[in-house]
Amino acid sequence: MKRFRWIKLTFLLLLVVGTVYILRRHNAPALHTAAGSTFGTEYHVSYVLPTACDSLIVGRLREVDRSLSMFNPQSTISRINAGRQGAVDPLLREVFLLSQQVSQVTAGAFDVTVAPLVDLWGFGRRGIGEVSGRSVDSLRTFVGFHHVALRGAELVKDDPRVQLDFSAVAKGYAVDRVAGLLDSLGAQHYMVEIGGEVRTRGEHPAGRPWRIGIARPTGNPAEGAMQTMLSLTDRAMATSGNYLRFYERGGRRYAHTIDPRTGVPVTHTLLSATVFAPTCAMADAYATAFMVVGLEGAKGLLKTHRELSAYLIYEAPDGRLATWVSPEIQSYVIQSES
Ligand code: AMP
Ligand code: MG
Repeated sequence: MKRFRWIKLTFLLLLVVGTVYILRRHNAPALHTAAGSTFGTEYHVSYVLPTACDSLIVGRLREVDRSLSMFNPQSTISRINAGRQGAVDPLLREVFLLSQQVSQVTAGAFDVTVAPLVDLWGFGRRGIGEVSGRSVDSLRTFVGFHHVALRGAELVKDDPRVQLDFSAVAKGYAVDRVAGLLDSLGAQHYMVEIGGEVRTRGEHPAGRPWRIGIARPTGNPAEGAMQTMLSLTDRAMATSGNYLRFYERGGRRYAHTIDPRTGVPVTHTLLSATVFAPTCAMADAYATAFMVVGLEGAKGLLKTHRELSAYLIYEAPDGRLATWVSPEIQSYVIQSES
């Protein structure tokens, strides 16, 4: 009888231990990865959570697309671009206010009303064509942040021809939205990347910081040569480069960053700007702005905006690639190509 009781007890104990083990394993955080395309580019997300949440990530990306995509005719921005005014959604409001702030800080170098000029120079919906000084001047009459204002829930333009293009900040903003989702689900470790704009939290499950590369801005970007590898923890980073979208005509290179103050694509020695900031939308907007203001302009802005850091790659007077790196970023560098 006594022996039987012992067997029963041992069996019960094994059952409890086994159940706890199975439940713990089931709820154990694991590394998940999600990838796909959005905004005409690719995204990759790695995150540590007990269960995968890929469909929620896709939901967040769709939400940004429905608000900010110029390629989606039903998006809020497409509706606003089609008329004189239009109701904004909370995402568009947030991105508009950030864009306005970056425009003020950069004295108009960053300006999302640059869309008609982006089109004119062949980086929008129409193809590459002849561009005359007169056509630039006529478009410039309705380019500039002073042509748009938020009045309550409405975005109002003073000219129906004003067009907004959030391409320079939307990818970074989408990264923030996905990071926000993962935060809300309790993820302590993740890396979100959309078209090269990145945000990380915590560490890679291997117990090391997340490793992110900065592309070498010469040669064929498809070959994926890296200028440097960085370890990135709890930071957002975005890169703009004149090597990413450009064409050559009459021996001149035209890149997709336009100086809204002259109406012409920028040409200077700064080849790529990688910006580190508290949010990826901010990093994205400033990376574009830095490409407009050039190397010295970027250094000037970095002096007065301590929340930003940068890794700048430029062409030195002897034609070689050179880098300028904010002191706080130097400690992130794992390995650099010479
Ligand atoms: P990014 O790759 O983030 O630098 O964004 C580049 C895109 O932003 C271009 O393809 C244009 O659609 C748009 N853009 C070009 N110049 C400017 C500018 N000065 N301010 C804001 N957006 C711009
Ligand atoms: Mg940008």
